Amino acid sequence: MNAPEKSLDLKAVRAELDAGARKAGAAVTGVADPAAFTEAPEGYRPTDLLPGAKAVYVLGGAAPRAADWRNPNYQFMETSSFSDRIFSAGTRTARAIEDHFGYYALCVPAGVDRGDRPFLSVALAAELAGCGSPSLAGPVLHPDLGFLYYSVVITTLPLPVDGPLQVPACPAPACLDMWKSEGTTPCMSVCDIDNGGCIGGRIENDRVTERRYDRARCRTRVETWWIPGFQKVLEKTLDETDKEKRKIMLYSSMFTRTLWSMTYSNASQGQCYECMRVCPVGEKARTKN
Ligand code: SF4
Ligand code: SF4
Repeated sequence: MNAPEKSLDLKAVRAELDAGARKAGAAVTGVADPAAFTEAPEGYRPTDLLPGAKAVYVLGGAAPRAADWRNPNYQFMETSSFSDRIFSAGTRTARAIEDHFGYYALCVPAGVDRGDRPFLSVALAAELAGCGSPSLAGPVLHPDLGFLYYSVVITTLPLPVDGPLQVPACPAPACLDMWKSEGTTPCMSVCDIDNGGCIGGRIENDRVTERRYDRARCRTRVETWWIPGFQKVLEKTLDETDKEKRKIMLYSSMFTRTLWSMTYSNASQGQCYECMRVCPVGEKARTKN
């Protein structure tokens, strides 16, 4: 049964939710206004998923460990994604809101709706909740922790809104220096859109004023395993009439890793990580002895 709104100490409720989220693995939390999702297409806004939504609670965390970033073998990073951990922190938060406070709470699933579109843009939610800001390379970056995974809980609990960050984390001071001296940034230099890569852009007055991103090309490098990789190999295998060749395809490293990534390591849902590996945002947090 719902507690009447006026009897709720929303500050205390938020503190309790934050404590639970941190215990479940979140490093940061924030709250966005459901009405602020104006750039999301109709049908993909918080109130489309949960009518009467009053707040969007975002949890960020489960980033690769500092040592993961130092491993020079990029395949290692591709198979060590931890995004499922922050999703389970989100589902725990949703359960807490429903069970402890008596309000509806919907944890946005990690899967996709029609046309490969997420049910709600997690990146937009993280930005509007102030958990981080969009970057030239793509991911929403937390100013101190850099690259994080995010989980989103839409709720009718009327939590006070945090809103977006005032100062964007990208471009970092080191990137501004590099832009001024070389006309590029670390992420652009490892994946230059004008040189076979995916990222391009402009910085003016210390702000990113133009961003070019070749999503299709990035995807072919990012999701070589996982579901798209599985679909691709399956199609080729079904078309292959030679029994021996079919066998080689099914038992290949490529297909084995695809199955491994889908069933166990939840790998490569959004990054090949090379643009993030060189990004200075969050560098301190991933520097150890
Ligand atoms: S994830 Fe990889 S392919 Fe995609 S933009 Fe970053 S470096 Fe380029
Ligand atoms: S490397 Fe620099 S420009 Fe690129 S995403 Fe990171 S902060 Fe932004």
